[in-house]
Amino acid sequence: ETFDEMGLHENLLRGIYAYGFEKPSAIQQRGIVPFCKGLDVIQQAQSGTGKTATFCSGVLQQLDYGLIECQALVLAPTRELAQQIEKVMRALGDYLGVKVHACVGGTSVREDQRILSAGVHVVVGTPGRVFDMLRRKSLRPDYIKMFVLDEADEMLSRGFKDQIYDIFQLLPQQIQVGVFSATMPPEALEITRKFMNKPVRILV
Ligand code: AMP
Repeated sequence: ETFDEMGLHENLLRGIYAYGFEKPSAIQQRGIVPFCKGLDVIQQAQSGTGKTATFCSGVLQQLDYGLIECQALVLAPTRELAQQIEKVMRALGDYLGVKVHACVGGTSVREDQRILSAGVHVVVGTPGRVFDMLRRKSLRPDYIKMFVLDEADEMLSRGFKDQIYDIFQLLPQQIQVGVFSATMPPEALEITRKFMNKPVRILV
């Protein structure tokens, strides 16, 4: 299968090709279409398999670009990973005009608040700073319709479980959830049971 056959927006395809991708990886072949349909998806895959572009494409395909509100929230275990995802999301969504911001610790809270109040479509962040932004009402959850946990096993082993649950409590009831994890320890399975609705499972 090719990227052309996935039913993606023309401007998303342009972004994918401009980024240098020619053919979808195995996880992209199996994961992009279900994610774009709005299904809950669990993808058990190591990093290096192309999982970032899988959920970025799914998010970018489903955003309403006429609405400058946060519609997708992506959580990652480290600042560096969150910032790396932000870059990929921005690059793939370049021709769509996506506005993305990374909310991570160790940066200015004021600056995060300023950027969020100016309006973004997607927030990528680490659980601590994202929860802080939600608690301060600098990040409004009302329009969030997609929630992605990247490296879920790693977030759990870093002790982010309670914060992930706290964040989930603040999100709208009807929300698409994507969980990406190299391994599926019991706490990760518990997350999939509590947060997800009839998830599609993809093992690469
Ligand atoms: P990830 O698993 O998302 O961390 O991606 C691992 C690496 O593979 C990154 O350097 C990506 O840029 C690259 N990559 C992902 N998808 C593709 C693709 N379809 N074609 C070529 N390279 C890719």
